[in-house]
Amino acid sequence: VIDMGQPEHSVTTTCAYCGVGCSFNAEMKGDKLVRMVPAKNGDANHGHSCVKGRFAFGYATHKDRIKAPMIRDSIDQPWKEVSWEEAIGFAAKRLKDIQAQYGRESIGGITSSRCTNEETYLVQKLIRAAFGNNNTDTCARVCHSPTGYGLKQTLGESAGTQTFDSVMFSDCILVIGANPTDAHPVFGSLMRRRLREGASLIVADPREIDLLSTPHLGDSTHLPLRPGTNVAMVNALAHVVVTEGYEDKEFIASRCDTKAYAKWREFIIDERHAPENVEEITGVKAEKVREAARKFATAKNASIYYGLGVTEHSQGSTTVMGIANLALATGNIGREGVGVNPLRGQNNVQGSCDMGSFPHELPGYQHVSDAVARARFEKVWGVELDDEPGLRIPNMFDAALSGEFRAMYVQGEDIAQSDPNTQHVEAALAALDCLIVQDIFLNETAKFAHVLLPGSTFLEKNGTFTNAERRINRVRKVMAPIAGKEDWEVTVDLANALGYPMSYSHPSEIMDEIASLTPSFANVSYAKLEEQGSLQWPCNDEFPMGSPIMHTESFPIGEEGKAKFAVTEFVPTTERANSRFPLLLTTGRILSQYNVGAQTRRTENQAWHDEDILELHPHDAEERGIKTGDWLGITSRAGQTVLRARVSERMQPGVVYTTFHHPGSGANVITTNNSDWATNCPEYKVTAVQVEKVSQP
Ligand code: SF4
Repeated sequence: VIDMGQPEHSVTTTCAYCGVGCSFNAEMKGDKLVRMVPAKNGDANHGHSCVKGRFAFGYATHKDRIKAPMIRDSIDQPWKEVSWEEAIGFAAKRLKDIQAQYGRESIGGITSSRCTNEETYLVQKLIRAAFGNNNTDTCARVCHSPTGYGLKQTLGESAGTQTFDSVMFSDCILVIGANPTDAHPVFGSLMRRRLREGASLIVADPREIDLLSTPHLGDSTHLPLRPGTNVAMVNALAHVVVTEGYEDKEFIASRCDTKAYAKWREFIIDERHAPENVEEITGVKAEKVREAARKFATAKNASIYYGLGVTEHSQGSTTVMGIANLALATGNIGREGVGVNPLRGQNNVQGSCDMGSFPHELPGYQHVSDAVARARFEKVWGVELDDEPGLRIPNMFDAALSGEFRAMYVQGEDIAQSDPNTQHVEAALAALDCLIVQDIFLNETAKFAHVLLPGSTFLEKNGTFTNAERRINRVRKVMAPIAGKEDWEVTVDLANALGYPMSYSHPSEIMDEIASLTPSFANVSYAKLEEQGSLQWPCNDEFPMGSPIMHTESFPIGEEGKAKFAVTEFVPTTERANSRFPLLLTTGRILSQYNVGAQTRRTENQAWHDEDILELHPHDAEERGIKTGDWLGITSRAGQTVLRARVSERMQPGVVYTTFHHPGSGANVITTNNSDWATNCPEYKVTAVQVEKVSQP
């Protein structure tokens, strides 16, 4: 796939894998992509890259790409290749017929964090303006929706507070439920650099992640907590901060809502949060927790980085708020080297949330019940908007099974593979009268589809992605779309076929519309992005050149701009180990593969990691007579699968771990229906399982 001939010209664009958002020069020979070279002037990566962005681009020209639209009357029929016009017409007629028979709320759609800001904006606009309801959601539902909720409640903005480069000013780095060197490799390397310079490290994670074995000058503490006990751990850390007198009283008095703080203080000083009293829950020695809390609280600059190990829990939102409490209590917000930093998994998770993909929020996190915000959109979009939140993804599945929800438009997400409890998802998809899938491959979800619309890769389109540090980066077209249309053009065609007129000649015009309706994007334009390279929102009249660090003077919350502490009671998950399912399974990623592997498995990266493996502690392995390489049957309350074993000291007894990059591994066959109380983000990170040796499947 990689032709090493000399390039003739290059186009600067943005990696479409993780939330670091590295800039690359796509070097071309004629119309062929020769290689991807990390851009030295990339604001997020400064010339660095990882094996995904650098080498795993061959999927864009893979033979499996869908090259023409396809339709079929029912899912037991073969696909029929048709023109774009016929496919769009077929889809629009079905959607209209279904709404005529079952009502306006009977259809909806899902936007993708893989797609550009402009594309996700258009999908939610299509749903709100042309479908006439708020049944729009994003795959961020299943990863970082608790970040959106938890940070909005406490800090007033649903986003991380820092730039990546800020970590170079941090003296103590607390990593919770994240594995940056595998999942966010370029940022993981930057973190390693800071650790080598002497910053100290605290890792709260059930597994011993690679960062802990990085040789570095500062000290490191591992808090190997049991899956599902993040809230108890974060509360215990905060309890030590408060009861041992490490609070930043000046910061709290000047920057925080003192009433909310007083309520939280009374809650957190209660002895039930003392490390000694949560030892039984978390499994971590109290003295280690006290030591970590002191280290964090006494550092000049302490920062927190977290990932899906925080959000994908029944208390994901509570942990996010607990993390914000800890940063506020120690005054670690609003300057270089500190802050609360969600590490976003996909390239445009931040952007898909910013662009109003949620059923309760218009672009810029403006609630659908806000009549003033709604009126602005109604004027530009020329329709009356629904003021009631629509269905979230899991609600769509439930409503499909009960017959109230009949059709779905899914752009760029393989929900049949990536959402939990596969059996439930597949039953819901099979119950739909019309499923429209827009994707680059015939994925697992497409097996239940009636209309297949070819998607375009990041190399075939213009637009923008917003990375985990709120940085809006340009995506530039490197090659022509394989099926003739960029994703945004397909959405425009569908809207027009439904009778709702949409007309844009370039994604820059979509961005102009976004800027006119989204206060935090008010000063963003393609011209300014060309001039500046990238922009971090908020970028408006108050911050015309963008905002590398947020909350330096005040918080966008309440009349007075004061941050709000939140009471974060620990409520154990109902997913517990017992004699039938004695081990707790948690999941994560590996460096060379990405998410469900649709792209990386179709590149040379497949050679580095071609199967998902179950890691387990030697003690658990010995008890079951298991050796590395043995085949294992893994059974949970939801289902069963088979994986090979790797016996590893990285695990703690009682906890097992796997990745989810290969469709055959069935990680989501065994995950349950549990979800975050506030956002319905699935509890992927805790599944009680039994593991036993089986013969080769
Ligand atoms: Fe792409 Fe992330 Fe790797 Fe950068 S770190 S090259 S954005 S996958």
